[in-house]
Amino acid sequence: MVFRRSIYKTPAQLRAMIAPGLITADALEAVRALIAPGITTGELDAAAERVIRAAGAEPNFKLVKGYHHTVCASVNEQVVHGIPGERVLAPGDIVSIDAGAQFEGWNGDSAITVVIPDPSRPELVAERERLSDVTRGSLWAGIARLATASHLGEVGAAIQEYIDAQGQYGILRDYVGHGIGRKMHEPPTVFNYATGERGADVRPGLVVAIEPMVVTGDQETFVEDDDWTVTTVDGGSGSHWEHSVAVHDGGIWVLTAVDGGAEGLAPFGVVPVPIP
Ligand code: MG
Ligand code: MG
Repeated sequence: MVFRRSIYKTPAQLRAMIAPGLITADALEAVRALIAPGITTGELDAAAERVIRAAGAEPNFKLVKGYHHTVCASVNEQVVHGIPGERVLAPGDIVSIDAGAQFEGWNGDSAITVVIPDPSRPELVAERERLSDVTRGSLWAGIARLATASHLGEVGAAIQEYIDAQGQYGILRDYVGHGIGRKMHEPPTVFNYATGERGADVRPGLVVAIEPMVVTGDQETFVEDDDWTVTTVDGGSGSHWEHSVAVHDGGIWVLTAVDGGAEGLAPFGVVPVPIP
């Protein structure tokens, strides 16, 4: 007989995930405030680690086998899993930062994208800002659908539907969202597109990291020689946005947003409900 831990958390377990979510949000806010021409991605990594450790938490990316940093920093044609280091950010860069904290055995996971202004290349900056807006909007569309969905497949369909309505964008197929709890990566899989499958039941106790990865051109990517960085084949720009979201008896709550997702969900008519 095989005993598997249920993917659905108890109310007490959901409450335990509030703190690591907020610590993750704080770390990303610290990084966002620092992103500017001249800073290195390694300095951003150090800033995120400081915030996480000051809160008494641990960078959970360092618990992933073979990964030794607090954040992933993916620049321009890099979409996800970029390794922070000596790279110096420049005007016009689009930078996706992914980070997570583990606190008292529970995890948070979230990602943001920032575009650095460049007055000399207004068209490039506008294209990249639009890409980030579309990706972020698709994340909120997916989270909003979680509030009413009966199965997780509806979330992926909502994300794809949102993106397809915005123009010609590619959605990465080989990288997906996931359940989150005691481990950063748990079942079930959360696709960012319609698969035709119903997916896991959406019911109280489900906690998922929803994370659309979107590019300006073709969705085809390759992994760079560092064995991590996922980069577009055609050189198109990438954006990655992510939140960890809990479903509970009263509704949904975005664990990695300081307002529980109120601002992001408002355009979709969804009001997040604090975990009791
Ligand atoms: Mg992440
Ligand atoms: Mg994730």
